[in-house]
Amino acid sequence: MPRMSRFVFLSGLLLLIGAGVGNGGEVALQVGKKLQVYASFFPLYDLTRKIGGDRVEVYNLTPAGTEPHEWEPTPRDLINLHKADLFVYNGEGLEHWVTRILPTLENGALKAFAMTQGIELRRTDSSQYPSGENREGGGVDHPFDPHVWLSPLLARMIIANIATALRKVDAAGTDYYNGNLLRYDAELRSLDKEYRARLDGFAGKDLVVAHAAFAYLCADYGLRQVAIAGLSPEDEPDPRTLAGIIDYARERGVKVIFFESAANPRLAETLAREIGATVGVLNPLETLSSDAVAAGEDYFSVMRENLAAIQAALE
Ligand SMILES: [Zn+2]
Repeated sequence: MPRMSRFVFLSGLLLLIGAGVGNGGEVALQVGKKLQVYASFFPLYDLTRKIGGDRVEVYNLTPAGTEPHEWEPTPRDLINLHKADLFVYNGEGLEHWVTRILPTLENGALKAFAMTQGIELRRTDSSQYPSGENREGGGVDHPFDPHVWLSPLLARMIIANIATALRKVDAAGTDYYNGNLLRYDAELRSLDKEYRARLDGFAGKDLVVAHAAFAYLCADYGLRQVAIAGLSPEDEPDPRTLAGIIDYARERGVKVIFFESAANPRLAETLAREIGATVGVLNPLETLSSDAVAAGEDYFSVMRENLAAIQAALE
């Protein structure tokens, strides 16, 4: 309920801003030379920087260390967003606030694009849970699984969408964006090859993860995702589901229970203790700490750390 009333307030605020901005003269003055682009969360921020290069200034709306499923923008964020040239977001319920603010954004000059556009999405189903139960919060908020960026092959479609969006707002940069697209498309293909080579021979193995972010990745490399929480980290399992996961993991000889660096490892540790496994870190890339960002970590470095962690867990 507080969330709803806050949105009524925010929407009203945006209408006022929209009325104030006028026909774009002011906007052009403020943005200077580079295209002002907002991304809803880390992977889109990072990949947009790579495709946009020198022609863009990209801002990540979700603060470092904050997980995007439950985050929502402040009034200040929405004011900034309204002044921007382009807004890229994931869609499919990852950013629960987006559908409510899009109608107000469309009144202004800002163009907004969903990066899951054109990607064949996995329907949320119960198959990822060993107990065979679908979990509350899976079906309702997320009829489809939004975690496409964790598949290097689907990330190729994301960067193609990013390039399309950039060309639409900055046609003069078409050749430049296409050049970057080719370069990073090749990098994603080689990342996919590395995954294939190093996970070869592990088909059918289980990946016990903190929340259900890895279904696309698992599908690409023949693995099976067992998620402790649902599609959002906040969808904590009930005791019966947890017991089912423990039985299943013990039966299947799971050796590592993964948790996320940005989340509390408590559940993973409990599970690992129960079955005599160890804990490991898999990063769903939904957020990076400010330290990781400062150290220059990006989509590719984290995906390679994940690959090493998965390989070590399955060997
Ligand atoms: Zn997630």
